[in-house]
Amino acid sequence: MNNLKLVKTKLGKAVYANKKFEKGEEIIEFKGELIEYDNLPKKVDHYIQIGKTLNMGPSGDFDDFINHSCNPNCGLIVNDTKVTLIAITQIRKDEEISFDYSTTMDEDDWEMDCLCEDKECRKRIRDFKYLPKEVQDKYIKLGIVPKFIIESIKR
Ligand SMILES: [Zn+2]
Repeated sequence: MNNLKLVKTKLGKAVYANKKFEKGEEIIEFKGELIEYDNLPKKVDHYIQIGKTLNMGPSGDFDDFINHSCNPNCGLIVNDTKVTLIAITQIRKDEEISFDYSTTMDEDDWEMDCLCEDKECRKRIRDFKYLPKEVQDKYIKLGIVPKFIIESIKR
């Protein structure tokens, strides 16, 4: 049995937990093709930034369909090109899996409206540097902000 399941929603697809996850537990490893920023296709669905100029493409697996939340229950650990999603809270079976897309964004050319409907929703998904300082600090403490982002906000 899969630990995750894909669910159709009114906005598209979402990934749900198919079992209970403990805080810190690995949810899934992201395994897309690595692509330099300049070679990205025009339509950039399901791409995540994992380095200053490096992106990971879609894999065809659950990792493509995990939605953003401004108050997520997961975060990405980027270790060079190994990308792992871990639980940052305890997650119930049948709860939606989410991470904050801003934690891997430092690109200055892509934004989108947020429809996560959380009471802390920021309404717009933007680069990490535009997050409120306390949200940045919280994510950095959790270890879910890649090194290239931490380096870029120090400048
Ligand atoms: Zn939101």
